[in-house]
Amino acid sequence: LLGYIGIDTIIEQMRKKTMKTGFDFNIMVVGQSGLGKSTLVNTLFKSQVSRRSASWSRDDKIPKTVEIKSVSHVIEEGGVKMKLTVVDTPGFGDQINNDNCWAPISKYINEQYEKFLKEEVNIARKKRIPDTRVHCCLYFISPTGHSLRQLDIEFMKNLSRVVNIIPVIAKSDTLTLEEKIEFKQKVRKELEVCGIECYPQKEFDEDTEDKSDNDKIRETMPFAVVGSDKEYQVNGKRVLGRKTAWGVVEVENPNHCEFSLLRDFMIRSHLQDLKEVTHNIQYETYRARRLNDNGG
Ligand code: GDP
Ligand code: MG
Repeated sequence: LLGYIGIDTIIEQMRKKTMKTGFDFNIMVVGQSGLGKSTLVNTLFKSQVSRRSASWSRDDKIPKTVEIKSVSHVIEEGGVKMKLTVVDTPGFGDQINNDNCWAPISKYINEQYEKFLKEEVNIARKKRIPDTRVHCCLYFISPTGHSLRQLDIEFMKNLSRVVNIIPVIAKSDTLTLEEKIEFKQKVRKELEVCGIECYPQKEFDEDTEDKSDNDKIRETMPFAVVGSDKEYQVNGKRVLGRKTAWGVVEVENPNHCEFSLLRDFMIRSHLQDLKEVTHNIQYETYRARRLNDNGG
């Protein structure tokens, strides 16, 4: 009988490594202007993800976003450091002619792949390549209650081939409960009809457990979110919310909206997978194409 070798210590070894080096995680927000992208970025940083990070000034007014701009914060929990970067983009689709309006966003995404590739093929390769690749792209859908716009479809069709897309219904506090359920259904249907594969893509479910977990998520998508960077006192607790004539919409209360569901999905359950799909599928596709182009 063989003795214990200690193969299972790899988990502890990986934990120690991660504690030492930390890791990068990059989220991008895109969609028409005015849908609350910049606000949601603030919500994310101000919410429990980084309640303890002191560097965030509380009363910054959100200016209109005019260029692609990223904000990073190093967040530490349980000794593990995550450098969270959120890439904010100017709204698109405001022009009369919206052909290729996603080009600057696609360009940005590809530039990050290119940067990583350059580092990888470098002779004096860094021990750890800084990772600026977009691990997930939150696509903001206008809460019309009607259909997706042609632009939404074109964008997601094009970009879902290069980046993990997670669609969200913006400003969902403007929809009634029935409207929300119906709209979510409609969007799912339209995405399916158009053949748009959002994250988590079915083809990358690794086993039946993955499949059943992810099916549940796919059935609740797109997450109906509400953003805010203002705090209010509710039942003696300070909460992020939107104050209305009939009460406070609490953004982190799962009974009020799906912001915390989205956050848990991106961070607590699928962060590692988002990174892996980005590296193994999206980046790999880019890399293969680039190296082929060069060779031919
Ligand atoms: P962006 O252009 O997509 O970055 O949108 P902003 O974050 O600048 O927000 C545009 C306006 O919408 C601001 O007045 C926000 O206060 C408001 N807003 C942002 N998020 C929400 C939301 O979830 N619900 C509602 N009702 N308004 C929101
Ligand atoms: Mg903005």
